Amino acid sequence: MARDLDAEVIVVGGGPAGASAAYSLARADVDVLVLDRAKFPRDKICAEYLSPQASRILSDMNVLDEIERTSPAHLAGMRVRAPNGEHADGEFASTHGFRPFRDYGLAARRTILDAIVLNGARAAGARVEELARVTDVTKDQTGRVSGVTVIEPGGTARGLTSRFVVGADGLRSIVGKRLGLTHTSRFFPKRLALVAHYRNVRDVGALGEMHVDHKGYFGIVDVGGGLMNVAVVVPMSRAREIGEGRTEFFEKWIASRPHLAERFVGAERATDVRATGPFATVSRPAWALGAALVGDAADFFDPFTGEGMYAALRGGEMLAPFIVEALRGAPRDEKRALAAYETARRSEFGGKWKLERIVGMAIAYPYFLNNAAKALARRKEMADLLVGVAGDFIPTSLVLNPRFLFNLFISPAFRT
Ligand SMILES: Cc1cc2nc3c(=O)[nH]c(=O)nc-3n(C[C@H](O)[C@H](O)[C@H](O)COP(=O)(O)OP(=O)(O)OC[C@H]3O[C@@H](n4cnc5c(N)ncnc54)[C@H](O)[C@@H]3O)c2cc1C
Repeated sequence: MARDLDAEVIVVGGGPAGASAAYSLARADVDVLVLDRAKFPRDKICAEYLSPQASRILSDMNVLDEIERTSPAHLAGMRVRAPNGEHADGEFASTHGFRPFRDYGLAARRTILDAIVLNGARAAGARVEELARVTDVTKDQTGRVSGVTVIEPGGTARGLTSRFVVGADGLRSIVGKRLGLTHTSRFFPKRLALVAHYRNVRDVGALGEMHVDHKGYFGIVDVGGGLMNVAVVVPMSRAREIGEGRTEFFEKWIASRPHLAERFVGAERATDVRATGPFATVSRPAWALGAALVGDAADFFDPFTGEGMYAALRGGEMLAPFIVEALRGAPRDEKRALAAYETARRSEFGGKWKLERIVGMAIAYPYFLNNAAKALARRKEMADLLVGVAGDFIPTSLVLNPRFLFNLFISPAFRT
C-alpha cells in the first residue's frame, strides 16, 4: 500500500454487506478500513429472518457458532396467508432433491447478529472505526474515486484516502448518491414498514409467517430469547396516518384483523414501533472507477422474500475478488474487473430480482395471491420449491417458467 493512503480499501458501512466484503478483502491480505456512523451493537429495522444459505456464508466467516451460542430461533420454512384466508406452508427440508446448507433458517435480533458478523471481519484483520459518518466521496483529478470525507464524533470533518471505496452504507447510501449510481425503481411499489418486538404472541411456531390482505402485509417470526419480530408493511399512501402516530397505526392494524388480534391477547410489546421506507432503490451499474456498491446500497429486496441479508452477505463475498483483481492488476484492468462484478451480480441476483417483481405484483393484486395460496395449499411440493428458491438454495429457473407460474397463479381459478 502507498504510505500516504489511509487504507487500501475503505468500506463505508459495517452491516452484513460491509462486514462480509471487509472479511473477504482482509483474508486476501488487503488493508481494509470499515467506517460506520453507528456504535455497535446497533439496531436495524428488519424482520430478522435469514435464509438457510446465509448460514453457509456465516460459517465461512467463522461466526456461525458464536451466533448459535446466542440462541437464535431456527426456522423450518414459511407460511403465507392470502387475502381470502387460505394459507400455504413451505418447508426447507423437503423431497425436491435440493439440500440447503442447513435444513433451517435463522432468526436473530440484528443488535446481536450484526455485531458478531462485524467482529468476524475484525478477526480477519479489518480495521473498524465506529461513530464515523461519511458525508462525501472524494475524487482525484482524473475523476476516479480516491477516498471519503468523514465526520468524527466531535463534529470535525476529515478526508480519508484509499485506492478503492466500497459503498455498503445501506438503503439511503451516501456513496451511491454522491456517485449518481442509485435511483428509484419504477418496477417496485413504494412501501413503508413498521416493526416492533413482542412477547407472548400465541401460536408462533417454527414457520415464519406472512399474512397478506388488500391493505398490505403483516409478518411475524420468533427471533429467540422469548421475542417475536412483528412487521407491518403498507403502501406509501398511508404515510400521513403513520406520521400522525405510528404506534396507534400499528396496533390498530393488528386489532382490526380478528385472526391476528386473537393471537395478541395477553401479548406485550417489548420494543418501540419503528418505521422505515420507501425501499424501491436500485443501481445499474453498481460501480464507478475506484468504487462499488454492495448490499442494500446497490439493490433493495422487498422484505416479503426475506432476501436482503443473504444478498448483502453474498454480495460482499462476491465483490471482494473483483476489487483484488482491480487493485493488483494494471490500471486498465480495473474497468474490466468492475464490469465483471456487474455481470456476476446479474447472474447471481437477476432471477431473484424477477421473482421479487412477480411477488410484488401478487401482493398488489389479491386475485393472484388467492390463486397462489390455493395452488400451494393443494400442492405442497410447489410451496416447498418456492420456499427453497426464497431460501437461496434452489435455482430461480425452477419457478420462473411459464408452467410453474401458470399452475401457481392461473390454473387454481379453474378448479373448484
Ligand atoms: C422492514 C424490513 C424487513 C426486512 N426483513 C428482512 C428479513 O427478514 N430478512 C432479510 O434477510 N432481510 C430483511 N430486510 C432487509 C435487510 O434488513 C437488509 O437487506 C440488510 O440489512 C442489508 O445489509 P447492508 O449491510 O447492505 O445494510 P445495513 O444493514 O443497513 O447496514 C448499513 C450500515 O451502514 C451504516 N451507514 C449508513 N450510512 C452511513 C454513513 N453515511 N457513514 C457511515 N456509515 C453509514 C449504518 O450505520 C449501517 O450499519 C428487511 C428490511 C426491512 C426494511
